[in-house]
Amino acid sequence: MRINTIHNNQLIFLGTAGGRFTVFNQLRKSGGIWFKLNDKLFAIDPGPGALVESIKHKLLPNQLSGIFLSHRHLDHSADINSVIESMTEGGHKKRGVVIAPQDATETDPVILRYNRKNYDLINTKEFSSYNLDGIKIETQCRHRHTVETYGGIFAEKFAYIPDTSYFEELPVLYKADIVIANVVFCHKKAGFKHMNSDDIYRFLDVYKPKKFIITHFGLSFLKEKPWEIAKEISDKTGCDVTAAYDGMVIDL
Ligand SMILES: [Zn+2]
Repeated sequence: MRINTIHNNQLIFLGTAGGRFTVFNQLRKSGGIWFKLNDKLFAIDPGPGALVESIKHKLLPNQLSGIFLSHRHLDHSADINSVIESMTEGGHKKRGVVIAPQDATETDPVILRYNRKNYDLINTKEFSSYNLDGIKIETQCRHRHTVETYGGIFAEKFAYIPDTSYFEELPVLYKADIVIANVVFCHKKAGFKHMNSDDIYRFLDVYKPKKFIITHFGLSFLKEKPWEIAKEISDKTGCDVTAAYDGMVIDL
């Protein structure tokens, strides 16, 4: 497999796995979404393998300006301590900002306490704006998921909709040229607080971004070939819908 890296004003998917089976059997990678803007490097949801994947793709965590964690589930957070340790050079350098929900840092901490003095920690709030080394992140409302979860609009360039059940405000809240959504299921599965491909139609009915990217695929979605589903939705809606793959690079 060709190893991509990114330049300024680009974003890379270091993983596109979602759901326990896909992530914890590594049917797809789960290193999160990393991007570079204003020559600054940022990471979103560094799940299992994020440290290895980032270095493999020549993205050095010791150059990170910040990390955004949407929620504490392990498929999003498992490598966050390793990435923080690398960002701060094992604690030798105070560096970077971590934005994470309170229940990921206090209630059931997935972010260890011992090295918190080495970086700035901010607990995410609804409808708030944060400045990470010159990059604006605007959070939206708390998601309908099983733990405290927030997404955001990053530098007015792209929106990231992490895990949630669909709700009708989503296309109103997450307006950006590029929208990235975690769509675990192809078909609706009762009892799970995740989106499915029908929800993409509901979203695009209200708001069509220039590019809509689906990612975070569970096993049942992978079996349906996400790239074929994305093409079908594109054909039916006239919106550019792309299924992310590991190592996919997007210009911002
Ligand atoms: Zn989750």
